Amino acid sequence: MSTWKEKRTENIKEHIVCTQILCILLTLLSLPALYGFTPWEIYKNYFYYWLALLITFSLIIVIYIISKFDYQKFKIINSHHFHINEVIIISLLLPLTLSLAAAFPKTKFLLLIPVIIAASTWGKRVGMAVAAFSGCVVLISDLLPFLSHFSPRDFRMDLVFTGVIVLAGWFIGGLTDIETETRNHLLHLANTDGLTGLYNHRYFQEELRRHLAEAAEKNRPLSLIMMDIDYFKFYNDVFGHQKGDRVLATIGNILARLVKEPSFAARYGGEEFVVVMPGADREAARELDEQIKREIAGYPFEGAENMPGGGLTISSGIASFPENGTTAEELVRMADKALYRAKYGRGNHIYFSVVDELRAFCRNEKELFSSLKTLLTVINARDRYTYWHSERVAGYAVALAERMGLPRDLVTLLQCGAYLHDIGKIEIPPEILNKPGKLDKQEWEIVKNHPVWGGNIVHPLTLFSAVVPLIRHHHENYDGTGYPDGLAGEEIPLLARILRIADSFDAMTTDRPYKPARTPREACLVLKQEAGKMFDPHLVDIFICLISEQEEIKKEPSRPRTAGRSAG
Ligand code: GH3
Ligand code: MG
Ligand code: MG
Repeated sequence: MSTWKEKRTENIKEHIVCTQILCILLTLLSLPALYGFTPWEIYKNYFYYWLALLITFSLIIVIYIISKFDYQKFKIINSHHFHINEVIIISLLLPLTLSLAAAFPKTKFLLLIPVIIAASTWGKRVGMAVAAFSGCVVLISDLLPFLSHFSPRDFRMDLVFTGVIVLAGWFIGGLTDIETETRNHLLHLANTDGLTGLYNHRYFQEELRRHLAEAAEKNRPLSLIMMDIDYFKFYNDVFGHQKGDRVLATIGNILARLVKEPSFAARYGGEEFVVVMPGADREAARELDEQIKREIAGYPFEGAENMPGGGLTISSGIASFPENGTTAEELVRMADKALYRAKYGRGNHIYFSVVDELRAFCRNEKELFSSLKTLLTVINARDRYTYWHSERVAGYAVALAERMGLPRDLVTLLQCGAYLHDIGKIEIPPEILNKPGKLDKQEWEIVKNHPVWGGNIVHPLTLFSAVVPLIRHHHENYDGTGYPDGLAGEEIPLLARILRIADSFDAMTTDRPYKPARTPREACLVLKQEAGKMFDPHLVDIFICLISEQEEIKKEPSRPRTAGRSAG
């Protein structure tokens, strides 16, 4: 429970206890007057009255002690919603006031006290029920000959009295119901994220701390899953923020459906979510995490097929109490670290910044985005392999260009060229593009057209016109035997020569349907053999140096693998 809520409950409690005490005091002071006694007469003759006063004060002290007793601390009850103080007070007060009313009819109005307490605690229904019950007892006592002589006038008065206390129960209870409803609604608004319907960051922080304290006390585990949508900035850039919002709302629904109490899901920030799982160890958290990932990956989000990897996915990190941390801060930090490792450490999440990079060329944002959208949609829809291939080629090409010390604008241009170099393949019939075996001569001639087609596609897009030569010449050989123009040596643009090496290296080190991947060391040997024929020998030397420096090639690690076929 939040501190302000605790404070509010405490204030209400104090107020009710004060009301109870005041009611009892006033009643007692006014009792003698009801029976026509002066204070002096009472003092002289009514020992029993003083006794009653003593009992009343004792009752007040009992009520006060009951109200201060912490039932949860002493594990007598385990719920915030059970008003045990009021239950005890009403079960003491109701029989007392009813007996008083039966014995001394003028004290009937005391029955208002339990009615008020019940109505202000539990609302209209309970308030009216207590009032009706009290009224019935009074009316029945009128009819019982051993309690009173039946008087139709008194009976009518008691009927009116019953009506009054039922009305009081209805009115006060009604106000309580409205207040409770408003409070719950405000609480809901304060704790909920408007877009996803999940709990918000504030609620998450408060509840995580509360559950952690409970877990520490009861020696139970607790797990935290942190999630982040992959490439969401890209999704927003391509499809717009409104569709992005729809994705967030849908993920919110999926989480709400899959996360069962006592666990809960919350929106941590922009497109980050958390799941808190009290009582769950790492294994249980991993299971839920897998289930959530499966559901999200399988959901038909609009345009998801155009996302890198062919679907909208999330990355996640798990941290568990007590092994990963004992405080909320530690757990969040560890889950965040695990998320970061999952996203960027597994190797296939290359930093995807094509939009940012292309901004360098940007004169007109609208034009840039519509061009980019068209291009990326086309690439992804056709050949999913091409996408990742392009990403990797861009990585190798940029690394080589940076090693050569090329200026930043050329590196950016090269990166864009690498992303788009195979765009011409959209013109190749799918039967040829996806053919599992070797291509015949005629088919090969068609494939060889893709640099020209790519150049032609990009050419009308003024923003990308600078990358046209890279696309057109990325299959030229250094000795002039390449295609489409048979350029040789320095005639081939430098960036296209870099692209040629990066492209071939990735093609060789990736599994194909008809050819298993070579190791990076084997691929470097081929590059060396072909230096001066296919590749610029000077660039090959630098590239091999670069690759050799990487830990992977020294240790001969597992080879990169992809599902589709080569982009060539
Ligand atoms: P990564 O795969 O590395 O996570 O890349 P990313 O693009 O998802 O980057 P990041 O996690 O930093 O995502 C931040 C983006 O999330 C920025 C913004 O476009 C988007 N985002 C944040 N909040 C909202 C929101 O309320 N609505 C929408 N539509 N987008 C949001
Ligand atoms: Mg993020
Ligand atoms: Mg993200």
